[in-house]
Parts: sequence; C-alpha cells; structure tokens
Amino acid sequence: AVVFLFAYFFQKFRAKKENQVREQTTSLEKANKGLRQEITERERVEAQLLQAKSAAETANRAKSEFLATMSHELRTPLNHILGFTELVLGKNFGPLNETQEEYLNDVLHSGNHLFSLINDILNLSKVEAGKLEIDCSPVRLKEILENSLIMVREGSRRRQIQLSSEIKGIPETLSMDERKFKQVLCNLLANAVKFTPEGGKILLAAHLVTKEELKARLRISPFSSLVEELKDQPNWLQICVQDTGIGLARHNFERIFKVFEQADGSLTRRYEGAGLGLALAKRLVELQGGKIWVESEGEGKGCRFCFIVPV
Ligand code: ADP
Repeated sequence: AVVFLFAYFFQKFRAKKENQVREQTTSLEKANKGLRQEITERERVEAQLLQAKSAAETANRAKSEFLATMSHELRTPLNHILGFTELVLGKNFGPLNETQEEYLNDVLHSGNHLFSLINDILNLSKVEAGKLEIDCSPVRLKEILENSLIMVREGSRRRQIQLSSEIKGIPETLSMDERKFKQVLCNLLANAVKFTPEGGKILLAAHLVTKEELKARLRISPFSSLVEELKDQPNWLQICVQDTGIGLARHNFERIFKVFEQADGSLTRRYEGAGLGLALAKRLVELQGGKIWVESEGEGKGCRFCFIVPV
C-alpha cells in the first residue's frame, strides 16, 4: 500500500511538474515570438530610417548643387549690372544730374549687397556639398588683422564708433587659408559695426591661448560642448571682436550660427541681413580645424564673438 501510495503521489507530482513545464514552454515560445516580431519591426523601422536618411542626403546634395549653380548663374549678370553702373557713375559717358547720381548710387549699393548675399549662398552650398577646399599658405597675421579694420573704418567713422585693436604675442605668420580667414574677420567686424549704436566701441583682440586655458573658459560657458570637440592641439590663436552693441540673449547664442537664423526673427526687423554671415563664418572656421562662439551678458550689453584656429 505504501509503495502504491508513493507511486500514486509521484505520478501526480510528475504530471503537475510536466504541466508547469509545458505552460512555461508555451509562454516562453509566446515571448520568443513576440521578441522576434519586435526585432523584425525594429529592423523594418531601421531600414525605413536609413532610406529616409539617404533620401534626405540626396535631397540636400541636390539643393546644394542647385544653389551653387543658381548662385553662379546669378553672379554673371549681376557683375554686368555692377560694372556698367560703376562706369556710368564714373561719368565716363557724360555728366549726371544729382538725382541720377543718387539713384545710381542706390543701384550700386543694393547690387553690392545682393552680390555679397549670392556669394555667401554659393560658399555655404559649396561647404555643404563638400566642395569648398582649404588653400593654405603662410599668412602675415598682423597685417591681415590691421587691414580688416581698414575695411570697416569708414562705416564706423560715419557712426562715431571707436575702433581699436589689441594684438599681443601672436606668431608673425601662420599657415592658413587667407581668403577664408579674411572673410570670417570681415563678417564679424561688419556685424559689430551693424549692431553697435552711434558712439559705441569695437575692439579687435588677438592672442595665443593654450588648450587648457580654452577648456577652463569654455567649460563654464554655454558652449561647454566645444571642450570635447577641441582637437588635440596645445596652442591656439584666438581672435575676438568685442562690441558695445545690442547684445544677445542666451537662448540665441547657438541659433544665430545656423543658416538664415537671426536673433530678431520678426518681419519688421530693424537691421539689414539674411542670417548667412555667421553660418558661413562657423563653417569656414571649422574647415580650418577651429571653433567659434559668442559671449554676451545679455540684450543691450554688447557681444564678444571669438574664434580659434590651431597654431
Ligand atoms: P545677418 O547679420 O545678415 O542677419 P549673421 O549670420 O551675420 O546674419 O548674424 C545672425 C544674427 O546674429 C544677426 O541677425 C543678429 O541677430 C545676431 N548678431 C550677429 N552679430 C551680432 C552682434 N555683434 N551683436 C548682436 N547681435 C549680433
């Protein structure tokens, strides 16, 4: 009887365990199936994302190529307009009355503005299409910095803005792309003049900084992410354009370096411009292994735009 009872309970126990195992296997199979479905779904979404990315890249390339071609085509007739306007204004074909001269000067001014806009678009699209190359040669730094001030001297004199420079301990020459360096300087200085009210001050400063000094300074700024992106380079040339102009709110610090972005995005903006200058400056600086950022205590408190390039 004991053996019989033992066999009976053992059978019951075994049946129960087998049942449990069967149930667990079924639920595992179910979970497995669910997981397989999830993986398939993820793979499908991933493939879709890759497809969308590739489509976006193709579209972006097409846009850049379109802009590059269009800008190129627009420059040729515009060059004619500017050239002939200058000839007529130079009174090469007879005298002009006061109104004619005034209107032709307006044509020239707007034409030049359009020309620089088209150049910016052309350069930006070239950078995006990876077609803008760096052409390095030894650049006489002090000379270029001083000449860049000459370019904005007239504009600032007219508005009684005081221009000064502070150039200390920089190397005599540095191997870089001279035209692109000049363009960045010119964009920053032109902005400083544009956004500084009459009677203000602009300072162009240049000096050498070490990577450690840069890291310490950037770490406590809104541009702290730049610290990780800095190349492993011990010494850097730092150029800053500081003004006493309209300043910038912190939430605009990064935005203004994007294409067509301006701090004041309203339709009734007070300042001329398309929001391309800083986007282009950023790309040109980065093409040379550098970084650019802005510092400001807030609106109405002036700005300091700085960029660095490896020495
Ligand atoms: P644009 O000057 O043609 O609008 P930019 O790309 O050069 O384009 O500048 C983008 C925006 O950044 C400007 O519209 C302005 O809002 C802001 N900005 C640039 N420079 C200064 C400055 N020195 N002071 C205050 N704001 C500035």
